[in-house]
This record gives sequence, structure tokens and C-alpha cells, in this order.
Amino acid sequence: MPIRVLDPRTVARIAAGEVVERPASAVKELLENSLDAGARRIDIEIKGGGAALIRVADDGCGIPSDELSLAFTRHATSKIVSFDDLSTLETLGFRGEALASIAAVADIEVTSAVSGAFAGSRLTLGAGHHEKIVPAARACGTTISVTHLFKEVPARLKFLKSDATETGHIVNTVANYAMAYPGIKFRLSVDGREILSTPGSGRLRDVAAEVLGGDIAARMIEAAAAEGLFTVGGLVSPPDASRANRSGMYFFVNRRWIRNSMLSRAVEEAYRGLLTVGRYPVAVVNLVLPPSDIDINIHPAKTEIKFREDGKVFDFVRRAARDALLCGSPVPAIEAQT
Ligand code: ADP
Ligand code: MG
Repeated sequence: MPIRVLDPRTVARIAAGEVVERPASAVKELLENSLDAGARRIDIEIKGGGAALIRVADDGCGIPSDELSLAFTRHATSKIVSFDDLSTLETLGFRGEALASIAAVADIEVTSAVSGAFAGSRLTLGAGHHEKIVPAARACGTTISVTHLFKEVPARLKFLKSDATETGHIVNTVANYAMAYPGIKFRLSVDGREILSTPGSGRLRDVAAEVLGGDIAARMIEAAAAEGLFTVGGLVSPPDASRANRSGMYFFVNRRWIRNSMLSRAVEEAYRGLLTVGRYPVAVVNLVLPPSDIDINIHPAKTEIKFREDGKVFDFVRRAARDALLCGSPVPAIEAQT
């Protein structure tokens, strides 16, 4: 075959695969957008493992009518202007790729309104459809419905697991963000049934009760430490509430859920001598560092991270968890009174 430049639709679909690997990745991107928009409340509804429907509604700042179509254009973002802005990034998104990617592999209907606007608007678009925009009533915020995900990407569709498995990934995704943002009310309904609902009280323990179960949440020990510009907070299980795998360990860096084996090792190290081999703690760890100390730009899905000083972060987290285990009381004084 001769060399040729691919047509834009093909390029878009190939690129979409990097961002939207499965329904849960679309949910993640939509949640991040709602959070970046300053939402206090986020409702998520899914059907058919997310392939049939993903709907995310928020009460964030909304998208102005004249920018609605632009939001779905590749590399269009309101979050950064230049590469240098990455070192001071405070938003979860910045690539301007998510909405364009989702729209390349699904049908979309988005309704949005900004505060003070006379009316909101609704845009429909999707794989191979013409864009259409009409006025629509809505309170300030955004609702995005994604339907027929991957319907024109048979290769991707084939790799989707059962609805139950894909739903499981979505539940984990929502649970992760709920734990990173205890002050925000999350509600997830699956095929019409509400399966997760957090109070938005601002207390991590309340969210942990929803995600990990009330018994373990009540027994977890608060960890907190600060050193220079590093702070860490979270909950760690008492040693007798361990698990046989690492599924109970959650890490958030600057409120972003991440996978990082160094952080897992730091927490496991804190339990040295307290847990037998093959047992793992349950822990929710929120680490906050200056953006210049991390590099989140290694993978488009943004779940991996590099620290400028691995060793320092390791020691900091290990010590915070260890101190909590050795001196922490599972029930903070204030809650103990009630
Ligand atoms: P990014 O988040 O990297 O900027 P996206 O493709 O996810 O890129 O979104 C593009 C733009 O659309 C965002 O920069 C933002 O301005 C706007 N946007 C997307 N979702 C929302 C939302 N829920 N509320 C308000 N604005 C949104
Ligand atoms: Mg985004």
C-alpha cells in the first residue's frame, strides 16, 4: 500500500481509543469536567454497562451557548493557554481531548446553561452525525448524555467485557472521585437503581462508609501530616481489618486518583510487623504537593504520575501512616461524643 495521510475521521477514532478505552474512561472524563466546572452535586446514570447510556449531570458553571460546539473540538480547552501553565495546573483536565474523543465514538446530547444567561442550549452530535444546536431550558450546569458508545468501532465493542464488569469499573471510578471529593454529593444509578450516594458532608469517613462499608469506615484511623509544602491526610485500617489483596488501597495526588506502586509500598511498609505476609491494609490516602513536584503528563488517561523526589514522598507517606497506626484513635473526639 502506498503511504497516505489518514482522513480526519479515522484519525479522530484512532486517537479516541487512547482516551476512551472503555465506558468507565468516558465516565472519568465527564466527572473530571464536572469537578473542574465547580459542581457541588454530580448525578451519574448508566445503562447497559455504560455502552447503552452514560449521563452525567452537574450544577457547575455551565458552557456558554456559543462555546458548546467548540467544547467538542480536539485540543480545545478553557483550562490552559500555554505549555507553561502545566506547572501550575489546578484543574483535572487540560488536554482538550476528552469530549472530542467521546464524540468520535458515540452519540452525544449535551444541555448546558451558564448562570445569568437568558436560556441554555442543547447540542446533539456524534459519530457521523451533523451537529444540531437548539435553545433549551436548564438551571445552571451541564448534562451530557453519551449513547451507543463504540457502536461504530466494532473492534472496541468486541473487547468490552460483560455489562456487570464494565459497570464494576464505572462504580470504582465514581467511588474514587467521591473519596477524593468528600464535599461533593455524588449519586450513581445503574439501570435505574441507585447504588452509590454520598452526602457531600466534607467528611472522608462518611464517603468511606458508602464505599468500603460502615463497619470498616467506623474503625479506620485518621492519618494526617504536613511537611513543608507536602500534606497528607486520610484513613488507614487497624491491622486486624486487613485484606488478602491491594484492592482496599486508594491513592489521590492533588485530588486525582492515581495508580502508583511506590505509594502502595510506603503504606505497606508502615504496617511492617503489624500484618502477616500476604495481608494488605485498607487505606485512603490523599496527598497534596505543589504541582511542580509532580508530572502527570505521562499518559493520556492521567492515572499515572511521576514524583520529582520519589524517596521523599515515600518517607513522608510511610511516616504519616505509621504515626497514625501507633498513636491514632479510630474515632475522633468530636464524633465520639455523639
Ligand atoms: P479539558 O477538560 O481537557 O479542557 P474536555 O474535552 O474534557 O477538555 O472539555 C473541553 C472543554 O469543555 C473544557 O475545557 C470546558 O471548558 C468545557 N466543559 C466540558 N465539560 C464541562 C462541564 N461539565 N461544565 C462546564 N464546562 C465543561
Ligand atoms: Mg476534561
